[in-house]
Amino acid sequence: MRPYFDVHCHIGMTVSRAPAVGQSVGRCLARMASAGVIGAIPCPTGGSPQARGVLDTRAQHETIANACKLYSERFPIGLGIAEARHEQAGVDELERAMQEDGLVGFMCHPGLSGHSLGGELHGFLEVVAMHNGLCLLHQAGSTRNIAAYAKRFPSVTFIIGHVSMNKAGHLDAIAQCGKCENIWFDVAQKPEGADPSWDLVHLIDNLGNDRIMFGSDLPYYDFRLVQAQIESAQIDDETKERIAYQNAVRLVQQFRGDWTPMLTAIMPPQIYSDAEIWDANGARLR
Ligand SMILES: [Zn+2]
Repeated sequence: MRPYFDVHCHIGMTVSRAPAVGQSVGRCLARMASAGVIGAIPCPTGGSPQARGVLDTRAQHETIANACKLYSERFPIGLGIAEARHEQAGVDELERAMQEDGLVGFMCHPGLSGHSLGGELHGFLEVVAMHNGLCLLHQAGSTRNIAAYAKRFPSVTFIIGHVSMNKAGHLDAIAQCGKCENIWFDVAQKPEGADPSWDLVHLIDNLGNDRIMFGSDLPYYDFRLVQAQIESAQIDDETKERIAYQNAVRLVQQFRGDWTPMLTAIMPPQIYSDAEIWDANGARLR
């Protein structure tokens, strides 16, 4: 199997939806190992426990930072999380996590965190911009907001998560963000069976083949469905290699110039059964 690198990988628990879903660092590594994924950019889960407010966010940041330290060849860079309701305290914690823990930016899930990708994130983005960092943003309706961020914060690199989950989102991202050079894209959760008006070939024809990347959206989805789609798509092998891992390697090296991917298989710290790793209700993992 060709190597895959995952730019969209959540570690932790989502408790704001039933049933709660999540994964430890070890189970994440086991999932990666079983499906040819040789590295990832980890970030926290949205909708995580928040009983202690920003202290819980700090714990999430430390989990990601520790994973990156322990497995620096597999997790070369990591992201924090932006919770807009923490306001300046959240901005300060992000700054601390970037300075002290070495995180390179944040992930934001507007749906799970209850905000809209508007001006409420400008304080967080300014911190990332001061470090020329990276943000993984999930869509909140149109990607117009992400295009506006990309203009306002030109030193930040953005990834739009699961850019092609449905036809409307796919076409909107092409229209709004196709020309923004500091916006990259992942194809997590792309459903099978898209017609040629929004399939993978259409996405590559319209966004080019150098900023589209594989993403798993673990722990929510069985990402092997997306790998199968990339492998069977009517695209040349060089493009498949780029989407599978080469584009991601180029992206990571913007932030860690000393890193090169380790292409050998991961040895996970625990041997999970297949059911434990892949028990799913449709594409959605339990
Ligand atoms: Zn996600």
